[in-house]
Amino acid sequence: MSGLGNRTEALERLAATSAQDPLDLLVVGGGITGAGIALDASSRGLSVGLAERLDFASGTSSKSSKLVHGGLRYLEQREFALMREACTERDLLRRLAPHLVEPVAMALPVSDRKRRVQFGVGLWAYDALASFKNMKIHRHVTGPETEALVPALPRGKVRGGFVFYDAKTDDVRLVMENLVQARRYGACLVNHAIVRDLVGGRNICRAQVEDSVDASTLEVYARRIVVAAGVWADRLESLAREGAPPRLRPSKGIHLVFRREAIPLIDTAAFIPDIERRRMLFVIPWLDAALVGTTDTAYEGPLDHPTVEEDDRDYVLDSLNKVFGLGLEAQDVAGAFAGLRPLIQGKAGSTADLSRRHTVYEIADGIVGITGGKMTTYRRMAKDVTDRIASSLGNSQRSKTRWIRLGTTDHDRLRAEAADRGRSLDLDEGSVAHLIRAYGDRALDVLDLARAEDLAAPLVPGYQPIAAEAVYCARSEMTVHLNDLLARRTRLALLDRNAGIGQGARGLELMGSALGWSRTERKTQLEAHRAEVERERGLGVASPVPPRRNLLERAARRLRTG
Ligand SMILES: Cc1cc2nc3c(=O)[nH]c(=O)nc-3n(C[C@H](O)[C@H](O)[C@H](O)COP(=O)(O)OP(=O)(O)OC[C@H]3O[C@@H](n4cnc5c(N)ncnc54)[C@H](O)[C@@H]3O)c2cc1C
Repeated sequence: MSGLGNRTEALERLAATSAQDPLDLLVVGGGITGAGIALDASSRGLSVGLAERLDFASGTSSKSSKLVHGGLRYLEQREFALMREACTERDLLRRLAPHLVEPVAMALPVSDRKRRVQFGVGLWAYDALASFKNMKIHRHVTGPETEALVPALPRGKVRGGFVFYDAKTDDVRLVMENLVQARRYGACLVNHAIVRDLVGGRNICRAQVEDSVDASTLEVYARRIVVAAGVWADRLESLAREGAPPRLRPSKGIHLVFRREAIPLIDTAAFIPDIERRRMLFVIPWLDAALVGTTDTAYEGPLDHPTVEEDDRDYVLDSLNKVFGLGLEAQDVAGAFAGLRPLIQGKAGSTADLSRRHTVYEIADGIVGITGGKMTTYRRMAKDVTDRIASSLGNSQRSKTRWIRLGTTDHDRLRAEAADRGRSLDLDEGSVAHLIRAYGDRALDVLDLARAEDLAAPLVPGYQPIAAEAVYCARSEMTVHLNDLLARRTRLALLDRNAGIGQGARGLELMGSALGWSRTERKTQLEAHRAEVERERGLGVASPVPPRRNLLERAARRLRTG
């Protein structure tokens, strides 16, 4: 069984539950925490359902810095246990999902002598906490070496620094791999399904779920419910327990995405210490682009639509320009996104100083919540909460997720087979590498589809994703809206200034045919996607060329060339 299965069938299965025939567990929220719980619980033999309000990973889990890391910064907060746990999880994820969790070298340019000593001690501690099992031990580098590793740095300005090692990923794809595996263990997963009400009970709990595609409502019965709703956790808790005091103090972080040409990088990422604000900004070579982030500011605005404000953008651009002297402006930004960290309230004044630990708590009889934490430690979070639920259900099985491979069972064989199929389709290496990263073993299904339906061309000219992905994702990955495909399954909304809907883009046409969209529906989808991207980026998206004008232009060109 491949992919996430059929959405309508999943909804029917959830609707067929009853007080006499409940699920063992309903998970609310399809971010990395919910996906991890669905996999942990279903692999212990529990019957599991999962309802996600918007698209899978549409919350914070698509807005992270994409680092699977120990968190060098936590040294300052003396969060040694958290760091150690995160390093262990990072190394485990490298083994479980080698196609998706890739090592990344991080350069830390430091010219000031005193700070060089401080960072040197910190990096020894970082390696020691990982029991010296970090991908490689950190090393000191000279000025010229630093410049060679990070070509964007101005010549002759950096006196030296360090290189250390962590890992990076595509956060959405990590969520998807967990969901796909959970589905293989029988979990029933639905996106665009909003939990509107929660009722606890010693033996049976109930959730009212609205299918936002057709506005119908269903009742889902489960012996236990877990709320894994990230920054929305307080909102969900108040459904089951009116007047519950808030637990969270969200903090906002933004990222800007640039074409690689705008910030010359090879494979090494660079940290930019911002001493004034006690933050570290970084630039990472990510997918086909350069990702720059991040900020950490207390947030009290609407949870559903955090935006990259002009101030945020200017701060990041200024910091970048100060270090790299590239003279980057808003018009150089290819994509931008804002996310909210679900931080647990604490005594610290600034959100940057709040702990990144998670918490598991009881909401009502049969309903527990989990929030806080970070993407890197999601598997441990999922295990903690599932241990509690499984034992309350009399299930004595232990978590198996340490051993469940995510995405591919044989990375080398996958690479060889995908390269063969890619060559026979004349695909460039970048597209093949992208397919492997995004779909693991299922990349071969996408390549077969590309051959069978003549869909090997780029989905958007100049970018790695291919046309077959639009059809594959509509059939096997529950893409319901154009935004699901462009913002999350392919990340084109981040990489492409035109958000995947500029000239020659084929997402709308292909998804429209796969899902039978009328002309009006296509227009609605296009406008909704554009509005969503513009709202989040805080920048406009160039108007897409209407397909009709495209056709007329092509006809006129043909006439001109005879
Ligand atoms: C700027 C930033 C950078 C970060 N960088 C990193 C990093 O590099 N590395 C790292 O390890 N961590 C990082 N993190 C932290 C990490 O991204 C989060 O801890 C993690 O994604 C939270 O996942 P979650 O599943 O708990 O929440 P979410 O991903 O937000 O998932 C919760 C889900 O619940 C759904 N939901 C809400 N209400 C309902 C409802 N009524 N019905 C059904 N579903 C509902 C939401 O739609 C959402 O999809 C970063 C966070 C931010 C903000």
